[in-house]
Amino acid sequence: MRKIHDDLAEDAPIILIVEDEKDVVTPMEIKLSMEGYQTRSALSGKSALTEVFREPIPDLVLLDIMLPDISGLDVCMRIREAPQTSQIPIIMLTAKGEEIDRVVGLEVGADDYLVKPFSIRELVLRIQVALRRTMGSGDKQPKKSQFGPLYVNYDTHQTYIDGKEAVLTATEFKLLSTFIERAGRVQTRDILLDVVWGVQSYVQTRTVDSHIKQLRKKLGVAGNFIETIRGVGYIFNPQTSKQS
Ligand code: CA
Repeated sequence: MRKIHDDLAEDAPIILIVEDEKDVVTPMEIKLSMEGYQTRSALSGKSALTEVFREPIPDLVLLDIMLPDISGLDVCMRIREAPQTSQIPIIMLTAKGEEIDRVVGLEVGADDYLVKPFSIRELVLRIQVALRRTMGSGDKQPKKSQFGPLYVNYDTHQTYIDGKEAVLTATEFKLLSTFIERAGRVQTRDILLDVVWGVQSYVQTRTVDSHIKQLRKKLGVAGNFIETIRGVGYIFNPQTSKQS
C-alpha cells in the first residue's frame, strides 16, 4: 500500500482504486488521502482481484469498467461472490455515454456509479454515502454474521462453513437466521413453528426436530452451535465449539 500522508489514522477507511490510467489514479490517491482515507491501487483487473482479497480487506472499491484484462463488470461479480468481500461497497467508474455499462454495473452488484470526468468533491460525497451504509451505526440488522467457522450472508441467503458453501433450503436458512437472531435464548418448538413456518401451518413439532437434525448435519462443525434443551427446545450457542 502506498501511503501519501504518514499521519493518517490507522483505522481510516481503505479505498481500493481500480483504474488502468495511472495519471487518473495518482491525483485520486492524493486527494483521497487528503480527505483522510487510506488508498490502495490496482492498474488491472487481475491485480484488483489480488488487492481486494489482501488483508486488511478494503472498505470500498472504486472500479473502472474498461480495464485492459478482466472487465470491471467481471471484477465486480467476483468481489460479490466471495463471502469476505460480498458486502464491500463498489462504485463503478464509467466513461461518458456508457449507459448500458452503468445499468449492467448495477445489475452485477455495484452500489453506485460515477460518470467520468467527475469532480473529487462528488467522488468524496459518494464515498461517504456508500461507507455510511456499511460502516454507519444505522439500526438496520446486520447483513452478515460470523461465528467461528460459520458465516451467514442474509442478502444472498448463503451459508459457509470454513469457507465452503453449505446449501440450505429456504426453511433451513430461516431456521438458522432465527436462531442467530435469538442467540443464547431457548427457542421452544412452538416458537420455532410460529416464526419459521407461520401459525397457520400444518407442520407438527416433530417436523421441527427433523429440520433441525438436517440443518445440523449441513452445518458440519458448526452444527453443535444448535444445542438441544431436553423437553424444552433448542438454543443457538456459538460458544459451543469443538475445542471446548
Ligand atoms: Ca479504463
